[in-house]
Amino acid sequence: MLSRADALEAIAGQRFDLVVIGGGITGAGVALDAASRGYSVALLERGDYAVGTSSRSSKMVHGGLRYLQNFDLGLVREALLERQLMVQLAPHLVYPTPFLVPSLGEDRRDRKLGIGLNMYDVMATTRVGRSRREMRSSKEGDEDFYWSPDRHRTIDREEVLELVPALAPRDPHDAYLFYDCQTDDVRLVLTILGEAERFGAVTLNGADVVEVTGADGRADGVVFVEAESGERVAVGAENVVNATGVWADRIRPEVVEEEDVPRIAPSRGTHLLLDEADLPMGRAACIVPAGEGRMIFSLPWYGRTLVGTTDNDFEGDIAHPHPGEADLEYLLDAVNEFFGTSLTDSDLVGAFAGVRPLISSGDPRKSVDISRKAELYETSSGMLTITGGKLTTWRRMAKQTVDRLVEREGRNAPCHTAEIPLGMEARPEDLEAPEGVGEEAVAQLAFRYGHAARNVLRLAREDAKLARPIVPGRPDLLAEAVVAARHEQARSVADVLLRRTRLGILAAPQLRDAAAARPVAEALGAELGWSRRQVKQEAEAWPAAAAAEGIDPARAGAAG
Ligand SMILES: Cc1cc2nc3c(=O)[nH]c(=O)nc-3n(C[C@H](O)[C@H](O)[C@H](O)COP(=O)(O)OP(=O)(O)OC[C@H]3O[C@@H](n4cnc5c(N)ncnc54)[C@H](O)[C@@H]3O)c2cc1C
Repeated sequence: MLSRADALEAIAGQRFDLVVIGGGITGAGVALDAASRGYSVALLERGDYAVGTSSRSSKMVHGGLRYLQNFDLGLVREALLERQLMVQLAPHLVYPTPFLVPSLGEDRRDRKLGIGLNMYDVMATTRVGRSRREMRSSKEGDEDFYWSPDRHRTIDREEVLELVPALAPRDPHDAYLFYDCQTDDVRLVLTILGEAERFGAVTLNGADVVEVTGADGRADGVVFVEAESGERVAVGAENVVNATGVWADRIRPEVVEEEDVPRIAPSRGTHLLLDEADLPMGRAACIVPAGEGRMIFSLPWYGRTLVGTTDNDFEGDIAHPHPGEADLEYLLDAVNEFFGTSLTDSDLVGAFAGVRPLISSGDPRKSVDISRKAELYETSSGMLTITGGKLTTWRRMAKQTVDRLVEREGRNAPCHTAEIPLGMEARPEDLEAPEGVGEEAVAQLAFRYGHAARNVLRLAREDAKLARPIVPGRPDLLAEAVVAARHEQARSVADVLLRRTRLGILAAPQLRDAAAARPVAEALGAELGWSRRQVKQEAEAWPAAAAAEGIDPARAGAAG
């Protein structure tokens, strides 16, 4: 990625075919799609890339088994096909995980669920009419990689326990096993942005769009405030796309019909993270009943156990949605009941919440949950707003948006994103690690960066200090902070701990003090030219940033 200084210079005062507002997965997708169709593109992100909902998802690339309950078949099929495509385009970053629906003790398998899983299997088929055997033989014959999930099946007690040791105390009888996929949501956004840049897009974070300018009733550019200088910067644009997620109703062109813009009422989803030793998920995820027919999940993620999620109206600060106290209790109760554990707040290694957009029409009975369905709006000024949808369906949302631009401009520019690899795969065994960097770190680097992991390892080789872990016992290396500043526009300790790595939510108790953040501040400072005083200030700003996110609920217990 270009440095911020270079990106700012390339954007300020220039005119682009397209300006995208918002650097979450949707904006990143639109930038990649448009740039790969030949548009000149600038993308502006107010805070840090993926700072909004795109770093706060459940990290699944999935069809969404539960949407089958509402017979949202089109949505599920679309997402399942995208899931398959994502594993092919980013095999290092999107990986299949077995999901179990166990029957415990005297309970027997729910036949209705079996029917649902049959449908899930059928809908995950690439092309209707193409048999699974045909797909498998293409997989075997094709060295270039082909993934399609196996059919769901029933596994016996022994296999259940081998996959999920946490179920041992509950005497599982058997389980349904099906597949969905997992990722690191932020890395997916950064990877897509990196690809967009390869096609000529310029992206800048710390660029708060405060105005959509217009001429003759048409949106013709934006003005943003640059975070470091506080200066207002104008950019011209033939087209403006608003991809600001839950903030979508706050971006208004000068000329606007009120009914043209969606009004958004956010809903919050809370997640918690546990030490794997406290709830060993092993190699599979579990669907966990959570009362009144609701389901939550428990997933292995980055060597921790991730539990989520809830869905409640939210009226707080959407920039920093705290994990709700009652929501945490609800998730812990469900886990304790199901796995026979007695985990409490003080066992949490991290927590986070995200907000979904809910379109509100003023009349609550007419409010529509668009969080899963993508919605594209076009105002009379020509600005397009794309919101809703899922992490999984970013490519379709981007296509829908850019198709509209292409159509109204009469261009001949088909979409290519189904064929554009996202990053470059590297297997851990392809990476050469310097002394002191263990297998776990190398495997994590291969997952997170693919081939670009070599940049991290090179730094670690050149400077032994950078080969050290950021948090003792975790595989993330200090060299990653340098790479984040040099190649990924990271500007603060929080950028590194919350998004370039995910340590803030994976090891919150170990990162309570400014002292724990100091090595990251020093590494960033060396890259970004900070004075000693600034390094100290940036490290000291971390505990407040962590508190603003509510990532460490165990802290209250520890203090008490
Ligand atoms: C709890 C929860 C769990 C989820 N789990 C999953 C899942 O497992 N799988 C899945 O597929 N989907 C999941 N989703 C859905 C998915 O996370 C979202 O659909 C997706 O992240 C939305 O991305 P976005 O880019 O539209 O919005 P965001 O990621 O919020 O991006 C919008 C960006 O716009 C920026 N912005 C706002 N105003 C301005 C401005 N004036 N100038 C410049 N920039 C601005 C913001 O800073 C932000 O970065 C989940 C959602 C939630 C809430």
